[in-house]
Amino acid sequence: MSERLPREIDPLRLADEGVRLEGEIPGELFPRLLESCAPGSKPESVSIVLNFERTTHGVRLLHGKIETRLTVTCQRCLGPMPLVLVTNPLMVLLAPGDQPSGGPEEAETQVVDGPIRLSEWVEDELILAMPMIPVHDDEKCSTPSTGLLPESDTEGKQNPFAALGGFKPKN
Ligand SMILES: [Zn+2]
Repeated sequence: MSERLPREIDPLRLADEGVRLEGEIPGELFPRLLESCAPGSKPESVSIVLNFERTTHGVRLLHGKIETRLTVTCQRCLGPMPLVLVTNPLMVLLAPGDQPSGGPEEAETQVVDGPIRLSEWVEDELILAMPMIPVHDDEKCSTPSTGLLPESDTEGKQNPFAALGGFKPKN
């Protein structure tokens, strides 16, 4: 499993060699991801598929899929919220000084000036895929969505349904 993934990679060389990396890294090895988790939880192992290639036009490409599941804290009700985090990186890899030319239009360009730590790079990609303010879907959240900021309205503490008590239908 994870031993097949190198700790450090040289993306340019991997692209020249046309390497495919596939494996999993345990979730607890991602400190920033761990920090984003709800208290007492940790991310599931991160599954990684990365294809490095060099096109016939000499463009070095990286594309693949990175996926994990974690539990974060909903910023509306502060309850736990399961989150599937998936990202599909698509990058043109450039050596320092290279001019970007060719490659898919939707690809990002990344300048690589040496070997990188695989787990750090993967973590960067996952953090970017994370919602800025995670909140449940309305129907799953225990706090109804009434606006951007929940107002504490002490006057409105009466049970809104109390007034309905008298209208209970009789058989
Ligand atoms: Zn919620």
